[in-house]
Amino acid sequence: MTTTASYDVESNRHTFALNLIDFPPELERATVGLVDRLCGVVPVWCRTLTIKFGDCDEDDSVAQCHVNQTYRFAVITIGSYFFSSDDADRCEYLLHELLHIATATLAEPVRSMIDDLTDDLPRATQKAMRTRLIDGLEQTVQDLTFAILPLITGDDA
Ligand SMILES: [Zn+2]
Repeated sequence: MTTTASYDVESNRHTFALNLIDFPPELERATVGLVDRLCGVVPVWCRTLTIKFGDCDEDDSVAQCHVNQTYRFAVITIGSYFFSSDDADRCEYLLHELLHIATATLAEPVRSMIDDLTDDLPRATQKAMRTRLIDGLEQTVQDLTFAILPLITGDDA
């Protein structure tokens, strides 16, 4: 059975809906508090942020993010490892995922363009281009995370 808890999150720029799916009740408040702290990086086009409690597609991932800019929503999945981390790490991991939403304005058109332009090319070419995009995107998102995190937490990274 799926459970959903819904909240309105107000940043200094806009208000968006936050849905928490299948969260253990004891983790709900901490997660809402974390989103409240980090909500300023959620872009104004994002109307609904859903955070699912569950397993990521890749076993070694702490969290993952799916963005649908067309329909103005994003879905982040976080699991038990996320919550076994300390507050500072949770803040970093969630900020990283939220920055995937913020960078989607550039990343998603490039991803679509790679798919369109490599449709008739060998799979290895398509895979190589996607891998380069993902590597560059992860580095950019992580650099932004390291730059922004101290501004939010007041700590030096
Ligand atoms: Zn990432």
